[in-house]
Amino acid sequence: MKLVFATHNDHKLKEVQQLLPDHIELLSLKDINCLEEIPETGDTLEENAKIKADYVTQTFGLDCFSDDTGLLVNALNGAPGVYSARYAGEQKNALDNMEKLLSELKGATDRSAHFKTVVHLNLKGESYTFNGIVEGQITTKKHGEGGFGYDPIFKPNGYDHTFGELTSAVKNAISHRGRAIEKLTEFLKKRT
Ligand code: IMP
Repeated sequence: MKLVFATHNDHKLKEVQQLLPDHIELLSLKDINCLEEIPETGDTLEENAKIKADYVTQTFGLDCFSDDTGLLVNALNGAPGVYSARYAGEQKNALDNMEKLLSELKGATDRSAHFKTVVHLNLKGESYTFNGIVEGQITTKKHGEGGFGYDPIFKPNGYDHTFGELTSAVKNAISHRGRAIEKLTEFLKKRT
């Protein structure tokens, strides 16, 4: 069956396609000719994931899932959270975001944080959500060139390296997104 993944990010699409059962063929927003940026106006990850999936289902009449992710830092009361992409401004620049976070945490002893992904699925008229979390620490400087976003400054608990240094296979096996998609996969195996 065909299922839309509400993303413009080809990297994410490929990564998730590899994790899903073979009978599910993912379509990106580009594949369904949805070229506009869907506004993420919610105050929570749950709301934003729902907004994106509902936009596709309502506009195109298609089953769809979407994901929304945030980095929640305990010493900053959960910031940047839902604003992770644009923490340092609307330019949504990963380097700027990391610099801002490192400067906010300058001298902080509690550097604990977690990534959280929420997946929202609209399937055959019903809605479902799946969460994935990975706990870790914000380092004091950047390490590694891999991954994207905050990866070079996030060290998952139990590992000596940041997501920027770990291979994508290792990251996918333990990451927030990997865990949420794993739950989605288990569900789709049973229901489709
Ligand atoms: P999105 O909801 O997946 O677009 O994620 C929002 C923002 O969270 C991204 O722009 C990144 O800054 C950050 N982010 C999401 N996933 C990751 C990740 O796996 N590693 C590092 N940063 C991430």
